[in-house]
Amino acid sequence: AQVVNADFVKSSVRPDDCPRDGRPEFALVGRSNVGKSSLLNSLVRRKRLALTSKKPGKTQCINHFIVNDSWYLVDLPGYGYASAPQEARTNWDEFTRNYFLSRETLVSVFLLIDASIPAKKIDLDYASWLGQNKVPMTLVFTKCDKRKKKKNGGRRPEENVETFQSLIREYFEAAPPWIMTSSVTNQGRDEILLHMSQLRNY
Ligand code: GDP
Repeated sequence: AQVVNADFVKSSVRPDDCPRDGRPEFALVGRSNVGKSSLLNSLVRRKRLALTSKKPGKTQCINHFIVNDSWYLVDLPGYGYASAPQEARTNWDEFTRNYFLSRETLVSVFLLIDASIPAKKIDLDYASWLGQNKVPMTLVFTKCDKRKKKKNGGRRPEENVETFQSLIREYFEAAPPWIMTSSVTNQGRDEILLHMSQLRNY
């Protein structure tokens, strides 16, 4: 399950604009600053590939990256920007929800959660929405290298992960798969790629 090559393909402003070649895809989504770009770069071992998604005008798009010429990693707009006006926030929500519900080649959503801080309501809401709508989901806990600090509520990443999982349990028939990661140590990188290859059945 190694990444041999990865390239940016296109930015789409609507689910309808996304590639139509039927290749399987995995979407990365999470609160802004959760470490999504860092994880994407760590997965494909390219320092700057995800910068494409951070260019002005692209942060609100669905960005497709092709891996090994056979499947897609999809970078979705981050949510929870404190500075975004309410109207823009509602638009992003509708846009990504529409993608989750209509994209037939979507194998699993990888929901990124910052393990260095206690569970946030917006993340719990996001996870429960995916669960209630039966969108296949994998939980990816980020920043697991960060040790406990008073300002983080004084909890270890492992404790935050456990609390988050217990808080969303009621929304899922079976507990979603979960992976602990760090883009600093590359913890979880191979596990994510292996999990993706198992979900694709090859
Ligand atoms: P994005 O907004 O979700 O794309 O987040 P970025 O990838 O830009 O990361 C946001 C901040 O978190 C940056 O300062 C990163 O250096 C930091 N960061 C991202 N991943 C990790 C990680 O695994 N461990 C630690 N300690 N910091 C991280």
